[in-house]
Amino acid sequence: MGVKNGARWRTLKAQAFDRDRTRNAPCARCHQPIDYTITPDEYTYRPNAHEPDHIKPRSTHPHLTYVLSNLRPSHASCNRSRGSTPIETTTRWAQAEAW
Ligand SMILES: [Zn+2]
Repeated sequence: MGVKNGARWRTLKAQAFDRDRTRNAPCARCHQPIDYTITPDEYTYRPNAHEPDHIKPRSTHPHLTYVLSNLRPSHASCNRSRGSTPIETTTRWAQAEAW
């Protein structure tokens, strides 16, 4: 989609990194610590590096792609392993049924 290659995304990613590093926030997916010594400037792929994860997926909420509050911390490895089955979709259906 190319959305993550733009300067706008790089800026937002840096903002999310600073916010999450300040809180030493763990990964929202596996709840393990994130290695905040790896900065967003690091272009080499590191599984334990911070990578912003969209809380509401871009596929269903494209207008929230560049909203900082829609980003939560995750490992690069965790974020990329999600594939085409968004966790959010599953959660939303589960909640709808519970109500
Ligand atoms: Zn993780």
